[in-house]
Amino acid sequence: MTPIFPEQSVAVLFSGGDSPGMNAFLRAIVRLGLNREKITVLGVRDGYRGLVRTARALNGDAEALVRLKKDIATHVGRAGLISEQLHIIQMDHASVSGIMGKGGTILGSARCLEFHDKEVRAKVIHLLKGLNIRALVVVGGDGSLTGAKLLEEESDLRVIGVPATIDNDLQFTDMALGVDTAVNTLVWSVDHFIDTARSHRRVMVLETMGRESGDLARMAGLASGAEMVITPEAGPLTAADMQRLAAKIEGAMTRGRGHAIVLVAEGVQFEPQQKRNRAYVLMEAFQEYFQRPGAPFPDLEVRPSVLGHLQRGGHTTPHDCILAARFADCAWKTIIDENGRNGVTVLRKNIVEIVPYGTADMPERAAFSQEMEQLHEHLSSW
Ligand code: ADP
Repeated sequence: MTPIFPEQSVAVLFSGGDSPGMNAFLRAIVRLGLNREKITVLGVRDGYRGLVRTARALNGDAEALVRLKKDIATHVGRAGLISEQLHIIQMDHASVSGIMGKGGTILGSARCLEFHDKEVRAKVIHLLKGLNIRALVVVGGDGSLTGAKLLEEESDLRVIGVPATIDNDLQFTDMALGVDTAVNTLVWSVDHFIDTARSHRRVMVLETMGRESGDLARMAGLASGAEMVITPEAGPLTAADMQRLAAKIEGAMTRGRGHAIVLVAEGVQFEPQQKRNRAYVLMEAFQEYFQRPGAPFPDLEVRPSVLGHLQRGGHTTPHDCILAARFADCAWKTIIDENGRNGVTVLRKNIVEIVPYGTADMPERAAFSQEMEQLHEHLSSW
C-alpha cells in the first residue's frame, strides 16, 4: 500500500528546558488523537529548531514539500524516530509505548535563538500550513509559550500552549508539568544529604533550580523537612542577612539540633553582587560566622552542593502523569471545538482549562508562596 500523508494532523513540540511529564504528555496527545479524535499527531524533533530546520531545507519549494510529506509517510513511528534527517515524525501507538514514566522527551527539546526572528517564524507558519496542520501544541516554559503566542498572533493557526517546567515560575497555573517530580527528586536528595549531615554534624547548603522563583525550593523544603529555605522574593542577601541566618542555625545547634540542611534557590542574589554559586557564597559566610572568636561550635563544617540538572531527570511521578493526561485532554477538546480559543492549558483549583495567552498572574499563587514560607518557618524552628 502506498503510504499516505495525513490530510489533517496536529503537530506537537517540546521546547526550552526539558521537564518530567513531557513524555507522558506526548503519549497522551498521540493516543487521544488516534483512539478518540481519529486525528494523527506529528511529533516535531528538538522544539522550534526542528521546524526552523525543516522550513529552511524546503525553502518554499513546493516539490520539496511533496517529498517531505512522502518521507514522513514512509517513516511512521519508530522508523521516523531513528531517522537522522527527519525532524517531523508521524507518531503511532508503538512510538509512544513504554515512555510514560521516563523523564526528558523522546522527541528532544532545544533552545532556538532564530525563532526570535519574525521572518523565520513566517517561514515556519508557511511550512505548517503546507503540512495542513490543524493545530500546533507547544509544550514548554515561559519562553516557549511566548514563542507560541507570537505564532498565533502572526497567523490564523490554532496554537495551544502547555506549561512544562520544573521551576513552577508560571504564575498563571497552580502547577506546571514536572514540578511534582522535581519536588520528589529534591526530597530524595535531601534524604541522602541528611544521612551524612547527621553523621558529621554538618550544615549542608544545597542550591536548587527555580529561575527567579523560590517555589520549587519552598515546596521541597516543606516536603523534606530541610531546616532552612532561602528564596529570591525577599530581595538580595546582604552580609548582615547571612550572619542572621547563620546565627539562627547556631541557635538551633545550641538547643540540640545536630545538623542543618539549607536549600537556596538559584534565583537568590547578593548585595554586593557575587559571581560564584550561591551555595558557595553562603558556605563561606556561614563558616566565617561559626568560626568567629568565642563561637560555641568552631568546628561546625559547612558543605555546599549545586544540585543542578539532577532535578530535571528521573521517573515521572503519578501526579505529573495524570496532569499530562489532563492537559492533553484539554488541548484536544479545544482543538476540535470550532469555537475553541487559542491559549494555554492550566490547572486551577484542580480544574484543567484553557486561558488566553498573556493571562495575568494569579494573586493566589503569591499568597500560596507566602503561606508555604510561614508554614515552613513554624515547622522547622527549634
Ligand atoms: P523555556 O521555555 O523553558 O522558558 P527558553 O526561555 O529558553 O525556555 O525558551 C525556549 C525557546 O522558546 C527559545 O529558545 C526560543 O526558540 C523560544 N522563545 C523564547 N522567547 C521567545 C520570544 N520572545 N520570541 C520568540 N521565541 C521565543
